[in-house]
This record gives sequence, structure tokens and C-alpha cells, in this order.
Amino acid sequence: EDIAEGLENAPAALVGLFSGRNVGKQVPEGSNAVLLKNLYLSCDPYMRPRMAKSDSSYASSFVPGSPITGNGVAKVVDSGHPKFKKGDFVWGMTGWEEYTLVKTPESLFKIEHTDVPLSYYTGILGMPGMTAYAGFFDICSPKKGEYVYISAASGAVGQLVGQFAKLLGCYVVGSAGSKEKVELLKSKFEFDEAFNYKDEQDLVGALKRYFPNGIDIYFENVGGRMLDAVLLNMREHGRIAVCGMISQYNLDRPEGVYNLSFLITKRIRMEGFLVFEHYHNYPKFLDFILPHIREGKVVYVEDVADGLENAPAALVGLFSGSNVGKQLVVVAKE
Ligand code: NDP
Repeated sequence: EDIAEGLENAPAALVGLFSGRNVGKQVPEGSNAVLLKNLYLSCDPYMRPRMAKSDSSYASSFVPGSPITGNGVAKVVDSGHPKFKKGDFVWGMTGWEEYTLVKTPESLFKIEHTDVPLSYYTGILGMPGMTAYAGFFDICSPKKGEYVYISAASGAVGQLVGQFAKLLGCYVVGSAGSKEKVELLKSKFEFDEAFNYKDEQDLVGALKRYFPNGIDIYFENVGGRMLDAVLLNMREHGRIAVCGMISQYNLDRPEGVYNLSFLITKRIRMEGFLVFEHYHNYPKFLDFILPHIREGKVVYVEDVADGLENAPAALVGLFSGSNVGKQLVVVAKE
């Protein structure tokens, strides 16, 4: 072992790993830590509530002065944990920095399948993929032939929900915030219909146009006035999976939703969910999704920012819709 003395010498010891100054291991056997070289970082909407001091967010607030934490794909460069060895690829919670020392690596997922792009583990094969899978199949209880509506439909989660619904034989309509995204929904992801919600003054009327007989399943990504308009257009015994409400994350006071009484009169089931409570199904999800990717039956669009210095702008862009598909950041090549 190469032991540096005192916390004040820790940064130099860590940096020394990359100039080869250390002799032996810097993550001692038994410490359980792993040292990661970050390759891809994921930009996710839930990171916005983490910028506030609040108990309401399901993830802890960022700590001023410390690197932002978030999901990413990384290579193990040193390990004191029996489950991981040098050279392994992993995805899970890491830092917005070049190298991260993870002291409790139990929550990291070891990447076993590398015949697909590694960046996919920030999206289709990672947290957003699991979100689409659990949210659609477990929360929505979908059936063939049902009418499905998805908001923020071209994003990391939405593009997958739509494709899963099509695989099942549902009728699928998505909304997004630009002409380019609407085109993508129809031509690339093969939704039955798509529209730009920013072009619609009357959202209730727009939904009536696309769903003359009503909506069976709404996959909720945006909240606010979109949810209000959807409630008026739901069918009896419809289901709403509340995945997220991105339109509300930048507001000091959330917008009012006025049509909730339709939950009663139409006997609609509306259920929120958190993806990390579904991670036990990750192996089952991989069995489902990997063959679909390899056979080209499910496709995935990524929006790749280059370099850590461009990560903040990429994250902020999620809230103006500048991302087309899953937003991620390349930090280093493998
Ligand atoms: P996306 O890739 O869809 O990116 C966010 C998109 O939201 C933007 O591109 C933009 O698309 C849209 N948007 C931004 N601001 C607004 C607004 N004010 N009104 C309407 N739309 C807006 O993100 P994800 O797929 O990663 O996430 C989608 C949702 O899922 C989010 O609400 C997120 O919080 C939630 N989520 C929840 C999880 C859970 O465990 N419950 C896990 C993961 C995600 P456009 O141009 O179309 O407007």
C-alpha cells in the first residue's frame, strides 16, 4: 500500500494515481471503495429540484462546494470491493468530475453487455429506460388496442414509452415542443400521431381531435395545464402514471390543477412512482430490452454534449427543451 498522511494530502494522493506516482493501491483492500473514471454523465430533470434546499425532493439536495452527483457510466480504475475489478464498466451514481471515489459502490450496476453503445446506460439501458418500463408496464396496466397519450414524448423516457406501447399494439399519440421533435415521433419512433403543444392555444380541443373517443392511458411527464386538459379527455377507468411534472420544477408556486374531480366521476386511477423502487426488476428489463435493441425493434435517440465544461448548459437545456432525445455529456473516451 502507498499511504499518504493526513486529509490535506488526500487530493495530491488521488491525483497522483493518474501520473503513476503511487506505488501499489490507493483504494486499500477492505475499504470497499472504488475509484471511477467517468465516461458519460446523464442530464436528468430531477437534478433541478436538487438545487433547492428542500425536503420535498425524493433525492437529496446538492452540497454547495462539492461536485454535483448524478447518474453516469464509468470505468473502474481501482477497487477495494470484491464485486468490482479494475477495467469493469459500471453505471450509477457518480460525480460531475473526471474521477470519482465511490465509498459505497453497492448501488452501482456492473455493465455486463458491451455489444451496445456504453452511453446507452445513461438512457435506454439505465435509469430512464427502467422508468419507461416500470411506469408503462407496472403502473399503467396496458392492454392491446388501448389509446395512449405521452407528454414530453421525444425525451429520454417518453420515446421509449411510446415504442413499448406500439409493441403492445396500442394507439399512441405524443406531444413535444418543436416541429423537429414531432417529426421524430412520427417517422423514427412510429407513433400513430404527434403534435406540437406550443402550437395549440386550446389543449383540451387538441386532445379531443387526436382522441375523439378519449384516452385510456396518460403517461404524465409535464404536469400543469397539460394534466388539466388530459383529465377532461380521459376515458372511464383510465390510468395515469405520474412520472414527472417538468413544467413545475422552475416555479416558486406550482400551477393549479382544476379538473381532479374527474378522477372520481370517471373512476380514473392516477399513480405516482419512483424508478429506484423498481430496480429489482432491472435484470428482467434487460432480458426484455436487449433483444429489441439488437434486432432494431426499439431505437434510441441521444443528444450528446461534448466535455464536462458543456454539462451545465446541457442540463439547463432540458427546461427549455433544447435537447432532442436523451441528453448526456461525454467526459472521456473509454
Ligand atoms: P426529457 O429528455 O424528456 O427532457 C425534458 C423535456 O421536457 C424537454 O426536452 C422538453 O421537451 C420538456 N419540457 C421542459 N420544460 C417544459 C415545460 N415547461 N412544459 C412542457 N414540457 C417541458 O426528460 P426525461 O425523459 O429524462 O424526463 C421526463 C420526465 O420524467 C420528467 O418529468 C422527469 O422528472 C421524469 N422522471 C421521473 C422518474 C421517476 O422515477 N418518477 C425518473 C426519470 C424521469 P419539449 O421540447 O417536448 O417541451
